[in-house]
Amino acid sequence: MRELALTPLFADMHIHIGGTESGRPVKITASRQMTLHRILEEASERKGIEVIGIIDAHVPEVQAELTELIERKRADQLADGGIRYKQTTLLLGSEVEVKEPGRGEAHFLCYLPSLKEMQQFTTWLAARCKNVTLSSQRIACTTYELQVYIDQLGGVVIPAHIFTPHKGLYGSCTDRLAEVADPALICAVELGLSANTVMADQISELHDKTFLTNSDAHSLGKIGREYQSIALAEANFREWKAMLLRQDGRTVLANYGLHPRLGKYHQTVCQACQSPLPLEWVERCPQCGKKAVVRGVAERISQLADVAQGVHPPFRPAYVEQYPLEFLPGIGPKRREQLYRAFGTEMNILHRADEESLAAVVGEGIAEVIIQARTGRLEVQAGGAGLYGRIGNKQ
Ligand SMILES: [Zn+2]
Ligand SMILES: [Zn+2]
Repeated sequence: MRELALTPLFADMHIHIGGTESGRPVKITASRQMTLHRILEEASERKGIEVIGIIDAHVPEVQAELTELIERKRADQLADGGIRYKQTTLLLGSEVEVKEPGRGEAHFLCYLPSLKEMQQFTTWLAARCKNVTLSSQRIACTTYELQVYIDQLGGVVIPAHIFTPHKGLYGSCTDRLAEVADPALICAVELGLSANTVMADQISELHDKTFLTNSDAHSLGKIGREYQSIALAEANFREWKAMLLRQDGRTVLANYGLHPRLGKYHQTVCQACQSPLPLEWVERCPQCGKKAVVRGVAERISQLADVAQGVHPPFRPAYVEQYPLEFLPGIGPKRREQLYRAFGTEMNILHRADEESLAAVVGEGIAEVIIQARTGRLEVQAGGAGLYGRIGNKQ
């Protein structure tokens, strides 16, 4: 048998639409600059991300925009699922919220092969939620029902940002997957911005799951703040799904994610006075006395952990701590523009350009910061209760 030729591609599978071209809001908290067209341009021409998941593709007006792109031959519908635009393949996704009785809310990412299945899903969704033109809507069904329906359509359901205190499956809804879902229908989970592979593999029931690191971008600049390198034979939905199941060598080659301490919910912090709190759960803040403590992802994982740190399944790829340009000290919009002009895409700047050529464009100091970011040598102050961590230079 001939070996399959696989290509490494960058993928970011959780990108929100802020608004439609006609100006209607989709994800209320996302920037209105996040239109379908601008996302596609940013991913293809600026960030250099070859596979993206548009997670608001259930919105009828977004579907109409996609249909128009295809009819005007500016994008191609792929036979094996997904839509090709310039250098990037768009996969159709939808984020929904499920709340079962007696449990907190959890978010799920549903991906479907093509517009046809997504339109079917929209009809199903419309019967179960208030407003199908908006993002991340609460739907009246159980997680299990959602899984079975999406599976019938040939799609996959992936629990989103699983550890976050607000709306993550472990963060707010359950201690064990099997309590709410069919674990066999979960082939992958999204780590979210405050956890990495070392943390997540402390939970044994995640050892057979593929880990995804996605940006959950609410603005154009944040596309690709987390992403993965994946090996596919071709960029389309069928290949991507086979990759989640790790079939015939298709796999995640590396997860590129924020340093977990940079994430907004890494440590337990009181939202009222911003004091970081110890690992033992307290309801009331010992500093200011208010009941505003937001449990951090690190604490939640330590509660659920049943495997020693450092034990991983053999297929688990490296988690490369990644500092997007936007987070780096001393690199504002003007410098970023210079870098893009010189090196094309952010992936080129972060991964490929050498220190000398970087220094020729932005000077030695900044070039050094970019190289330090590439090799994980920056110091990070932990984030929590909705505030990002901060980067300082390590001496
Ligand atoms: Zn979410
Ligand atoms: Zn989201």
